[in-house]
Amino acid sequence: MTREKLAGVLPRAAFDTSVALAQIRPVCDDVRERGAAAVREYTALFDEVDLPTSRVPAQALADALAGLDPKLRAALEEMARRVRPVHEAQRPADHVTRIGAGAQVTERYVPVDRAGVYVPGGLMALPSSVIMNVIPAQVAGVRQIAVASPPRPDAGGLPAPAILAACALLGIDEVHAVGGAQAVAMFAYGTADCAPVDVVTGPGNAYVTAAKRLLAGTVGVDAEAGPTEIAIIADHTASPRFLAADLVAQAEHGPLAACLLITTDPALAERTEAELAVQVPSARHRDTVQAALTGQSACVLVDDTEAALAVSDAWAPEHLEIQAEDASGLAARVRNAGAVFVGPYAPVSLGDYLAGSNHVLPTGGTARHTAGLSVLAFLRGIHVVECSAAALAAAAPHIDALGATEDLAAHVAAVRIRVPHGADIPAGGGPAAAQADARRAAAGPPIRPDLAGRTPYGAPQLDVPVRLNTNENPYPPPSALVREITDAVAVAAGSLNRYPDRDAMALRADLAAYLGHELSARQVWAANGSNEIIQQLLQVFGGTGRCALGFEPSYAMHPLIARATGTAWIRGARDADFGLDAGRTVAAVREHQPGLVFLTSPNNPTGTALPLALIEAVCKAAPGMVVVDEAYAEFARQGAGTALALLPRYPRLVVTRTMSKAFALAGARVGYLAADPAVIDALLLVRLPYHLSAQTQATARAALAHAPALLATVADLRAERDALVGWLRGRGLAAADSDANFVLFGEFGDSRAVWQGLLDRGVLVREVGPHGWLRVSIGTPAEMAAFRDALTEVLDGAQGGAAR
Ligand code: PMP
Repeated sequence: MTREKLAGVLPRAAFDTSVALAQIRPVCDDVRERGAAAVREYTALFDEVDLPTSRVPAQALADALAGLDPKLRAALEEMARRVRPVHEAQRPADHVTRIGAGAQVTERYVPVDRAGVYVPGGLMALPSSVIMNVIPAQVAGVRQIAVASPPRPDAGGLPAPAILAACALLGIDEVHAVGGAQAVAMFAYGTADCAPVDVVTGPGNAYVTAAKRLLAGTVGVDAEAGPTEIAIIADHTASPRFLAADLVAQAEHGPLAACLLITTDPALAERTEAELAVQVPSARHRDTVQAALTGQSACVLVDDTEAALAVSDAWAPEHLEIQAEDASGLAARVRNAGAVFVGPYAPVSLGDYLAGSNHVLPTGGTARHTAGLSVLAFLRGIHVVECSAAALAAAAPHIDALGATEDLAAHVAAVRIRVPHGADIPAGGGPAAAQADARRAAAGPPIRPDLAGRTPYGAPQLDVPVRLNTNENPYPPPSALVREITDAVAVAAGSLNRYPDRDAMALRADLAAYLGHELSARQVWAANGSNEIIQQLLQVFGGTGRCALGFEPSYAMHPLIARATGTAWIRGARDADFGLDAGRTVAAVREHQPGLVFLTSPNNPTGTALPLALIEAVCKAAPGMVVVDEAYAEFARQGAGTALALLPRYPRLVVTRTMSKAFALAGARVGYLAADPAVIDALLLVRLPYHLSAQTQATARAALAHAPALLATVADLRAERDALVGWLRGRGLAAADSDANFVLFGEFGDSRAVWQGLLDRGVLVREVGPHGWLRVSIGTPAEMAAFRDALTEVLDGAQGGAAR
């Protein structure tokens, strides 16, 4: 069975754009010549709407979003939430290849400046197309994204409201009420209303497709979208009801849709036929379905799954479902398909909306050479070539030979003018290399491409009277304890010639005793701050090819440390009140199968602790480690449990703590965790030997020996916090419930101005996400009074500007 033979017999609708091409050519030429005036005329002609400007007003977008059915809004948001991480994972990292000494090629992936997305909206309004096209462009980093969709007389001369709402949901503010070939021409050539774009993507009818083909030289285009199609490989294990439903679903797209059932089981074919006889008559679009199923559709009987794969690969379907034994194994062997749907519970309808995969896929057999829409459609890999004189001299003889063969003597000369035959090229490469070296030095050291251009994390350390921005304990250690610490450090100093206890056993025993819950030193691990604990966890349980999941806004170091360890970071969503919904949280865990889940309780910056039931539900669902960051546990309100209580039941649970907050020991840098001993054994693989200095261990132990004295301030800080929450709410501000030593308050139209106003009055707070909110750490009563006074002044003086 060869591909050629099979291709000749397998059905596929004839899809000829030549007629449409002839029709749209004058339209495109006209738009090139006369711009917006031509677009206006064609819109009046084809869409029966006369629009002075193609640009949809901002108010119409806002109104469409406000009027969006809440159920559809939730569905579009969920779709976006699933599609985004899949496309984030697609974004290639820049990479450098060393060709030899002094020669290298860097591939930089650079997004196009401006993209145009076409969204069909005539017969069917497809808001899902907005999500599928816009999100890859956004993830690629495209600065300007414009959407075009045909106006509808029944929508007041605007595109379908659901399309406008989907645009508004994704933050797209440039939408044009233009459809058909004139929209593609508008994007390609630009008009007074719409600047030309670099790339056009999005499905459309035959005219849109023809225009994309015609203008492909002028503008970048994605793959051509022809009639949709499905192939299903099924054996005796498949359900005829499922198969029939999926064939009908594909067929309802249009009379040219193609459906191929490839099966090893003649009985299954018959039963599916019988099911179709039941399902087709009751289909909403039964005439369309009937036309597609009796047109370019077929059932192919094959001897075995090998043959089924061969048939499918020859047809190269847009969608391939595999409903057969060892569906995953078969899926791994597929060579030609736009997307593959594995097993009975991954129908194509899931992929159209909610799988997270892209639904813009190659049709008409083009899956042999083309992939579905991805971030790559909006990126260019630019090769940056660097070469020293010595490296050019080494390459020159080969360039001599190639240039001579191709009769391109000037090519050879352009090299030899730099590195003549027999010239003495210094190993360093001579003046050219010296210049290159100087350039490189100016450009800075050759850091990892994924870190290039990033700014270091850190709260400002400003010298102001009231510092309430890093959640420190405002009370210094009592002087008696300062003496104890000094004495302990003095003893440690006496043996500084030796390395410290590498495993910090005594400190770990003290920490275990402090934590209680029947923990032993074997279940506790310590490091330089809980930041180092988090780093070690990510080094062992994350890394290249794995991902970690957190729910933002949360502690910003979790994703930053993840990136530094090469772990992909997945942003889970919180509810509007910053809480976590158990069902959605568990669903995110199941969906992403992360190596680590981070739960921060109490959360920073929102302050609220998580219910233990939610933590337990995540522990049950998570395939990897669950890290509960309890940096602020000691400040929790009554009733908030600690995840330490769950440790005996969940060997992959890790609870991290710190001495920086309640213990007033931020300067000593001591963080710790409690977990199963096997987890701690794993951490030994990555910790640096002797990571905790002798002084650190001595300091921490002295502090633990006086825990009650140090923790005495916790009750005062809690009371001060609760009073502050009441005061803020009394002022008409929003303040999140806090179980920590800080409070998140807002919402401000211009939180930056409030932050600056406070700073101008000597009070430093923290401007962290979420947008419009500020975080203030709980200080001494005097500091809190200063904060309240400063905030009162800022708000009363704001005259509406900085306030809400
Ligand atoms: N986790 C959370 C939630 C935090 O807010 C912080 C510090 N602000 C840390 C961990 C790190 O604390 P440290 O490294 O000082 O132990």
